[in-house]
Amino acid sequence: MAPIIEKIAQALHLPHKDSKKGESAPPATSHAPAPAAAGSAPAADAPKTQVFDSSKVTVIFVLGGPGAGKGTQCDKLVREFDFCHLSAGDLLRAEQNREKSEYGELIRTYIKEGQIVPMEITIKLLENAMRAALAEGRAGEGWAEGKGRFLIDGFPRKMDQALKFDEEVCQSSLVLFFTTTEEVMLKRLLKRGETSGREDDNEESIKKRFRTYKETTMPVIEHYNKQGKVASIDASPSIDEVYEKASAVIKELFAGTLNRNVTV
Ligand code: UDP
Ligand code: MG
Repeated sequence: MAPIIEKIAQALHLPHKDSKKGESAPPATSHAPAPAAAGSAPAADAPKTQVFDSSKVTVIFVLGGPGAGKGTQCDKLVREFDFCHLSAGDLLRAEQNREKSEYGELIRTYIKEGQIVPMEITIKLLENAMRAALAEGRAGEGWAEGKGRFLIDGFPRKMDQALKFDEEVCQSSLVLFFTTTEEVMLKRLLKRGETSGREDDNEESIKKRFRTYKETTMPVIEHYNKQGKVASIDASPSIDEVYEKASAVIKELFAGTLNRNVTV
């Protein structure tokens, strides 16, 4: 049977590149099925360079608990700074609903259970979307001569994703980290659930998502903290108040004057 990475690449219509040996298999929970043949791929042809050149392509990860306001703030940042906004969750939901996708059911189960979808799928979807945006040759600041700027929202949520993306896809520049209490997040998510139609905006799924966030995503924040890459923003106030701070951080990043590992 073909290794999982190869099957995924085929399903997503991407050229297959072997992954490195020793990568962890996707999480298998009692509820979520692990994809078949999650064995390690041969290391011989492992890529030594990243897919995108980080001197041309700026990648900012946007993290924070479910309902912290990542998507809302990203929408505003796109308008001011000409970013391409890629939400990992949205890309997964689009793949889930794609008629010919063989991963639809798998993705649906992981999302409902608040679990992290096997990283190969999410990373390929992101890589695909980045490539498309760069090929499109967008207008706007930061997009001339093969350059581009991306807000990657809701990713990486697990250490394996973070390490693989930085090493093989593109070295990230910054983590914008939106923090607030579970109480605030729960309130926002239940409100959103009234109209979002999302299968995970219900109390049961939300509790599971909070747990995954604490246990699996917080170590990612710690990892980037050690690298001095995190700008933390209190996401409890109003949308405009939070945005003022987020916008100031991005301005400083592009001006080269940002102090990392700061709380603003
Ligand atoms: N998800 C995932 N890997 C990722 C990002 C998201 O598996 O890298 C899944 C995960 O199950 C998560 C769900 O998608 O709970 C919803 O993510 P989204 O970012 O849309 O949620 P938000 O943070 O906006 O509430
Ligand atoms: Mg979101």
